[in-house]
Amino acid sequence: MASSSVVRPEEIRRHNLGLLLRQIHRHGELTRAELTTLLGLNRSTIGGLVTDLVNLGVVTEYVPAGRDRAGRPSYVVAPREEGPYVLAVEVEVERIVSAAVGLGGRVHARRETNTQDGPTTPAAAAAQVSRDARWLAARMPPSAVLFGAGVSVPGTVRRADGLVVHAPNLEWREVPFSELLRKSLGGELDVQVGNDANLGALAEHQRGAARGLDNVIFINGSVGVGGGVIVDGSELHGVGGYAGEIGHIMLNPEGPPCHCGSTGCIETYIGEHALLRQAGVTGAFGPLAAAAVFADAERGDARAAGAVAHVALWLGRTLATLVNVFNPEALIVGGTLADVVRLERAIVEGEVDRRAMAAARAGVRILTPGLGQESSLIGASELAFQALLAAPDAGLTMSSTGGAAAN
Ligand SMILES: [Zn+2]
Repeated sequence: MASSSVVRPEEIRRHNLGLLLRQIHRHGELTRAELTTLLGLNRSTIGGLVTDLVNLGVVTEYVPAGRDRAGRPSYVVAPREEGPYVLAVEVEVERIVSAAVGLGGRVHARRETNTQDGPTTPAAAAAQVSRDARWLAARMPPSAVLFGAGVSVPGTVRRADGLVVHAPNLEWREVPFSELLRKSLGGELDVQVGNDANLGALAEHQRGAARGLDNVIFINGSVGVGGGVIVDGSELHGVGGYAGEIGHIMLNPEGPPCHCGSTGCIETYIGEHALLRQAGVTGAFGPLAAAAVFADAERGDARAAGAVAHVALWLGRTLATLVNVFNPEALIVGGTLADVVRLERAIVEGEVDRRAMAAARAGVRILTPGLGQESSLIGASELAFQALLAAPDAGLTMSSTGGAAAN
């Protein structure tokens, strides 16, 4: 914190409002007594902050039914149903998912559109998301305020302005998608864009399998293989926001060509195309094709089982490298790679045992996502909520002068 001699009371109040709202957001709901303990502030200060958040329309207070009426009631502070929500979007190769997500990570409504005719163009994606936003708004209480939007994209994203530098599987290059979507949504909404695996890591850390863990790596494998790294409780971004491209660690310069322009990247060994190639599947790709290989492997088909085992071996080697470099508490494996762990955990763990250095290997857990297939979508909502959580009063003032959304 800055020197107390220059911190003005309204700055302290805003700081504390943000702290309190982040706790509510993280836990879903808390009693005033729990807030007092978590924030280390006195009861009357907590009472004043809660009143401010109630007046901003962000939270509500209630006395839980069934509590002993003889005792002093402990008010529960919870996100307000009609309060602010965000538009969370996940753009994938085969589909676009949009959701209205409230504080506490609650998904109020969700819509999924398949984009079967090849990768969607940026303009078509923005148009679809705008249709989704109207559809979702019609399912929200009339007074609910759309605060902002967050978008997950499977590609490298420049942190400063949300420019999609390269999303190879979407065939997007240098796409100013936040700008494009903001215009498509009417020009006033704040639109944030992030990398899918970075957002997956954020969500798993906030409310998934990595909750309470501060050194975690999320590796997400489908067509591409991405990663997100949490170090000492914070996201690792790198200078431009491009950190975490685990899939493009080079294993073998003589290996297969990778869409990133290099050869022999990890992605060419453990990505969906590698699985399908090993299984002898040609002409089909996507989650359904991968799921068919897993089903065949479970039925005992030797070629499919061999393909899964091959990917498991290279996944284990990849995880061993990550253990040595980052010394994490947990590795969370998502996407189609989660099924590889499910079917061949012994191979994955065995390879980590064999190749990671003993001190760093001790105690590392290999987990699958607590949020299932929704990690990146929930991460997109977290991104959209960041400004509100940093300064609840400023955020909502801005939003309500933004016009349409506030009414
Ligand atoms: Zn590559």
